[in-house]
Amino acid sequence: MTGRTHDMAAFTALSVVVVTQSLPHITLATGIVAIVANLAGGIAPDIDQPTAPFWRNLPIGKYIGKTFDKFLGGHRFLSHSILGVFIFGFLFHYILQVFTPSFPRLNMQVIWWAFMIGFVSHLVMDTFTTEGVPWLLPIPVKFGIPPLKAFRIKTGGLIERFGVFPALLFISVYLIYAHYETVKMVLHSYLK
Ligand SMILES: [Zn+2]
Repeated sequence: MTGRTHDMAAFTALSVVVVTQSLPHITLATGIVAIVANLAGGIAPDIDQPTAPFWRNLPIGKYIGKTFDKFLGGHRFLSHSILGVFIFGFLFHYILQVFTPSFPRLNMQVIWWAFMIGFVSHLVMDTFTTEGVPWLLPIPVKFGIPPLKAFRIKTGGLIERFGVFPALLFISVYLIYAHYETVKMVLHSYLK
């Protein structure tokens, strides 16, 4: 999937959680940082792909991307597995802990969850693509839905651009609209 679709999927997953779970009161700053963390989490697994949007937007990204690529074992390797979820979750948790004393208004737990929701949504979305996802690394088997490759989605193809992306957009808008009272309450809690 392209970075754009992954961001949309991350946001959709976050919307599902926001409307179905009762959230703690958070500050506006936490809300904004959580959305940014969610979008970053949505594309983070592709740091093992040198051409990923994650690296393309950095001036020296191409070179760093290539180094990471070797380190993580090529596209859809370590960062595209359950083991990767734990490693990235642990690292991101550590980074947030370092920043906690400087940003007392931010609820780091909410931000961490937003990032992880984006991260896992990426792996779920990639499972529907031709290449599949090596969920159980170090067991080197790539899983896909449906199991038959020919029926899976091609990254950047017509189905993704005109089917998957608009569908995710629709689900997000629908969820927020249908659960407007819940969303309003979450927004209202910003003020506290
Ligand atoms: Zn990916």
